[in-house]
Amino acid sequence: MTLRWARRSLILRLVGLSLLLLLIVQAAGFAVVRATIDRNARAQIARALDLDENVWRRLLEQNADKLRQGSALLAADYGFRSAVNLGDDETIQSVLENHGSRIGAAVTALLDTDFTLRAVSLTDDSMVEFPETLRQVVPPLATQPQGSQVAVMGGVPYQFVMVPMRAPVVIGWVLMGFPINQALADEMRQLLSVNVALVVSGAGGSGGASSASSMMSVPVSTLPPETLAVLKKQGAGSVELRTPEGTLLVRSTRIQSVGGEVQALLLRSVDEVVAPYRQLQVLLAIITVAGVLLFGVGTGLMAQRLTTPLRSLLAATQRLSRGEYDVPLEHTGRNDEIGNLARSFDHMRVDIGTQQTEIRRLAYWDRLTGLPNRERFREAVVQAIAGSTGTGQPLAVLTLDLDRFKHVNDVLGYAFGDRLLQAVAERLTQQMASPDDMVARLGGNEFALLAQHADAAAAHALAQRINQSFEMPLAFEDQTVDLSAGIGFACWPGDAQDADTLLSRSEIAMYAAKRKLSGALQYDASLDSASSQTLSLLSELRRAVEHNELRLFLQPKVPLHGQAGLAAEALVRWQHPQRGLVPPMQFIPFAEQTGFVRHLTLWIFEEVARLLADPRTADMPLRISVNLSTRDLLDPDLSNRLAAILARHAVPATAFCLEITESAIMDDPQRAEAMLNRLSEQGFKLSIDDFGTGYSSLAYLKRLPVDELKIDKSFVMGMEAGEDDAMIVRSTIDLAHNLGLTVVAEGVETAGILERLRALACDEAQGYYIARPLPVDDFLAWQARQG
Ligand code: C2E
Ligand code: CA
Ligand code: CA
Repeated sequence: MTLRWARRSLILRLVGLSLLLLLIVQAAGFAVVRATIDRNARAQIARALDLDENVWRRLLEQNADKLRQGSALLAADYGFRSAVNLGDDETIQSVLENHGSRIGAAVTALLDTDFTLRAVSLTDDSMVEFPETLRQVVPPLATQPQGSQVAVMGGVPYQFVMVPMRAPVVIGWVLMGFPINQALADEMRQLLSVNVALVVSGAGGSGGASSASSMMSVPVSTLPPETLAVLKKQGAGSVELRTPEGTLLVRSTRIQSVGGEVQALLLRSVDEVVAPYRQLQVLLAIITVAGVLLFGVGTGLMAQRLTTPLRSLLAATQRLSRGEYDVPLEHTGRNDEIGNLARSFDHMRVDIGTQQTEIRRLAYWDRLTGLPNRERFREAVVQAIAGSTGTGQPLAVLTLDLDRFKHVNDVLGYAFGDRLLQAVAERLTQQMASPDDMVARLGGNEFALLAQHADAAAAHALAQRINQSFEMPLAFEDQTVDLSAGIGFACWPGDAQDADTLLSRSEIAMYAAKRKLSGALQYDASLDSASSQTLSLLSELRRAVEHNELRLFLQPKVPLHGQAGLAAEALVRWQHPQRGLVPPMQFIPFAEQTGFVRHLTLWIFEEVARLLADPRTADMPLRISVNLSTRDLLDPDLSNRLAAILARHAVPATAFCLEITESAIMDDPQRAEAMLNRLSEQGFKLSIDDFGTGYSSLAYLKRLPVDELKIDKSFVMGMEAGEDDAMIVRSTIDLAHNLGLTVVAEGVETAGILERLRALACDEAQGYYIARPLPVDDFLAWQARQG
């Protein structure tokens, strides 16, 4: 809409402005030409009228000459002269009449030598004014016999001449008067194509001057009646006549006359002169109109040529802002500025498109595996749910977390970890049932699958297939890794209504699967409450430390061959305000998962240090074992923290034994080894706890600065039931002794086992048979009882 208007207005303004300028120029030229033509025409007419005036005067003179010749002829006529001499009035009269009518005179008269009238012939009887006219005409003619005199009679101008009659002396005068008539005017018109009008005013003789001047007659004229009417209306004084037929320029010439004023008006039409130029002007106008049209069309086309690409550029920017980058721009082939603009615009489109794709790739794809990331996966789930809402088809989201991945990363290096993730991505992708399904890497070692049209059974089957595909170990270079993962899934619409809930419930199921070490679990509301319990447990544990709800318990370790020294293992208890005494197996694994165990270890270490500094134990040769977890061992600050506590309570490291399980060492053997070396150098005694349950070999343990092996209670307790466990215990004791380690057996519940251990040369024993873990005071009392 706006686009269209903008285009329109641009064209309109372009064309309009150009046309306006063109029209102004043309109109100015037109006006100048017209004014020039008009001025030239008037000048030309003025010159023509000069000529006309001359000709007119000449014509009047010629007429007078002709009259004089006629008069002279009469005056020289023999018969007439004799008649005059004889006084034959009758003959005189008839000669005057005959001669006058023959040459067309209106008045033919014979005057005496004293200019009195002897006889007259008048063609018109109504010429009552003649005697008066005669009186006025004679004096000038008498003084100038070669001239002529005009006189007005009855509103008509007459030309009078007077010729003497000699025999040989002057015996009289012949006077003749001719009307200045239409013939003369017509001749003038024919000769020079000039209009002639005679205007007579002030005629009537005796009348007053004012009334005489107002009376005006035009006895002779070559003008058409309408023009004549205009002339009469405007009066004889006008220099220009505007009539419906056109403009006439008027030149007025006074004729010397008596008995009234006579003016000869010579009139020439301006239009006649201008007419040929008018054609030129029309031609000019036609050219102007054609020019304007051409110009209009031309600029219109040009504007169109300009605005069409502009419009397509505009459309292109709109496409870009909508995020459509794949439609190439038009007009890039042009060689002009528009082409340049279009080309650079097209480059911009391509560049932005590439950047956009890259940004999208970064935003939605995981670089390492090339799989969609969490964002992209979430969108896909949103879309899948939207699509399935119509069809009612179920769908499932599976999430999967690789076991021991951190371990692999730490032990085998990040490059190896990356290759492992890529291999897992590949195996998962192979499990996709249809192209609509999706495998994504949610982050770290966590993956997800979207299974379209899958119900709970299908999702479970898919999880099984994934587990099977993991059964084949991964081998890179010379390293082999067993793959395993916790898999959880949640189904739509049964387990969740929207994408986010579906995803998070699938993850809850996955964490539960990992905790329970079961291959695959579907989401269940009870899992949710378990995970919320876990959360509240963490905050409760924090509170437990702050509110002093933890208790230090000690379980004695007794020597089996009368060695010196007293020993015990420190074990934590939680005196919960509501739940009572909580056993460590209910919160230690959780504390290890969350890392909170480090606070716990420091707490118990400090409690033990405090006890060792206590005056009650001052002279006891007491060595207390403290349990360390994986998290402790991997904390690079551990030895410093322990040293700080020792310094605070002024107790030596040699009063401690640190128990570390095999699996804690094997989680990251290099770092564990480094830390164990440091701790050993500090003076701590080191013990391998739960020995026999892990995979570590004695050969490996030999490398570590370990002093003691603690045979796991499962073997010890099984010694009485089967010979297998007894065998294991015996060979472990032998091997440990060969390696120079002391051996402790835990879980000693009966006297029989104690005796068999003594027989097998086991160094120390710990177990319910000897004593249960005891509060500090009870432990001290127990020690006192031993004597
Ligand atoms: P553990 O380090 O192997 O500790 C020995 C466990 O065996 C203790 O259980 C102890 O009460 C139990 N026990 C001792 N004699 C016998 C016996 O004759 N028969 C049987 N059936 N059990 C016996 P407890 O105190 O419940 O501790 C369980 C585990 O909790 C410990 O196993 C240890 O891994 C962990 N733990 C306890 N206290 C701490 C602690 O302060 N720090 C850390 N990191 N872990 C601790
Ligand atoms: Ca222990
Ligand atoms: Ca143990």
